[in-house]
Amino acid sequence: NLADSLDKTFRNLRGVGKISESNITDALRDIRLALLEADVEFSVAKEFVAHVKEKAMGVDVLKSIKPGEQIVKIFHDEMAELLGGDQVPLDLSDPGYVLICGLNGAGKTTTAGKLALRLKREGRKPLLVACDLYRPAAIDQLAVLAKQVDVPVYTPEASETDVVKVAKDALEWAKTQNHNVIIFDTAGRQEVDERLIEELKRLHAFLQPKETLLVADSATGQQAVSVARHFDEAVGITGIILTKLDGDARGGAALSMRAVTGKPIKFAGEGEKLDQLFEFHPNRMADRILGMGDIVGMVEQVASKIDEKDAMKSIQRLAEGKFDFYDFLDQMKMLQKLGDMKGLLGLLPGFNKIKKQIPDAAFDPKRMKRTEAIVLSMTPDERRRPEIIKNSRRERIAKGSGVKLVEVNQLLKQFGEMRKMMRSPNKMKNMMKQMGGMP
Ligand code: GDP
Ligand code: MG
Repeated sequence: NLADSLDKTFRNLRGVGKISESNITDALRDIRLALLEADVEFSVAKEFVAHVKEKAMGVDVLKSIKPGEQIVKIFHDEMAELLGGDQVPLDLSDPGYVLICGLNGAGKTTTAGKLALRLKREGRKPLLVACDLYRPAAIDQLAVLAKQVDVPVYTPEASETDVVKVAKDALEWAKTQNHNVIIFDTAGRQEVDERLIEELKRLHAFLQPKETLLVADSATGQQAVSVARHFDEAVGITGIILTKLDGDARGGAALSMRAVTGKPIKFAGEGEKLDQLFEFHPNRMADRILGMGDIVGMVEQVASKIDEKDAMKSIQRLAEGKFDFYDFLDQMKMLQKLGDMKGLLGLLPGFNKIKKQIPDAAFDPKRMKRTEAIVLSMTPDERRRPEIIKNSRRERIAKGSGVKLVEVNQLLKQFGEMRKMMRSPNKMKNMMKQMGGMP
């Protein structure tokens, strides 16, 4: 794959002590070949290499890093730029319609379900609408997915043939639902054809959605690029969702897609599971293509294991200085989930600092059980106002939970320190800043 073939080139390049016309030319030739092999469109690859060369020849060699490293950096930045610079979020402003389009088998229906789940987790209220009237099974498929992600779905009669009528009925039905985003799944074809485009144009004209997302199978390479161009000319797409990036896709599609259509890749599908849809970050993709791993992406997966609502609730209470033992228990549970991935999190510079503030023991499940027992032996009043827990109460709690008095004392001390930290606005701000640095 692209990462492998680039790896050797970069290893050679990194060792270069002096940038010369000839060593750059050699490296760039290798890079261009690797891009073409990865299915990047010819003109895109050519232009890309020309950019890198221009920048590389112009650099003032910094003393601190090797010139080769500098070229790799230029290459990386240029690639991130090619992929679209910053991540582009969805426009879900009123009326919040998202129209999904693409070829058969690209992953539209699956992605519609994934997107619904994602938006729901972000605290929105999505609805799904089945507008694929060509295959009766398509309607059922969406209904099943909707059930799995627990999102309401509008399904038309199997005899219905007019997609605009379906959309009208769906909007009528939607009025009875409490929602703020509607995702429309549509039919695909084996290839772009007149009827499909006509139908999509009518539906698009009727809905006038703020988001029209093309779902494209990354494994189809060049074909995906020409499909994107076609759909864009027909209805004006607002973004691309690349699916099946978990497969052995050569990555080239992603590179040309953005350059050819000028439309941002907004999400990436990386598996059949419904939570395997991720925001597309050009920088991270560039890292990945250059074989630098995708640590941030992994951490994003970890973060998704933690219920966002729970986390927000607890953070808000912290900010209000209302932190009590009920919150403490919630937090311990969240930490434990993270604990499974502690090694991984340690790789992140931002997280390392936070990790130091969390005692190692917090990750120990046995210790966690004991802590839980202690908290459960407190009366509700004690949990809400831990400051009232004085000597005799401490002894009672120790007996009740079957631990030694010192452990109760330790826990109360730890809790007190945590609370103090939470109440100091500067420390809180710092912590939030560190967390903000995470995805
Ligand atoms: P549609 O015809 O465009 O609606 O495509 P479907 O949603 O029915 O998906 C076609 C197949 O691709 C299904 O078997 C999906 O499970 C699979 N699929 C969709 N997205 C992904 C992905 O990101 N990764 C993998 N591995 N499979 C996917
Ligand atoms: Mg479908």
